[in-house]
Amino acid sequence: MELEPVAPTAKAPDERFTGDVYVDIFHTPREPSRLIGSLVRFTPGARTNWHSHALGQTLHCTDGEGFVVSRDGTVIRLHPGGTVWTPPGEEHWHGATDAHLMCHYALLEGTGDGDGTTWLEPVTDEQYQQATT
Ligand code: MN
Repeated sequence: MELEPVAPTAKAPDERFTGDVYVDIFHTPREPSRLIGSLVRFTPGARTNWHSHALGQTLHCTDGEGFVVSRDGTVIRLHPGGTVWTPPGEEHWHGATDAHLMCHYALLEGTGDGDGTTWLEPVTDEQYQQATT
């Protein structure tokens, strides 16, 4: 066994996120594994863009309050201890409420040439308000 090196906390890029979001990738794949693990911290009101994952994604909330929202209007509230699975190809976003931070672990499998995430357009303030009120 070995202690895995962990990269420094990275600010999530503005092209893919709204608001201030910080990412710690704590596991990258060792072949033949394809597992990628990260801890993502959203400040109040911050969220991902719309996106999908080629092989799906598991989110596990560790702190705060947030949401996962799909294109069909389904809203799942995230609280500490809550786990949400998004299946392959399902377009969705995740983020914090406007009143609280939200932290989740994100587990997904890479596709060989990246993490398999297809990034789409930002979640507008109108879409955010509609989903979260
Ligand atoms: Mn996702």
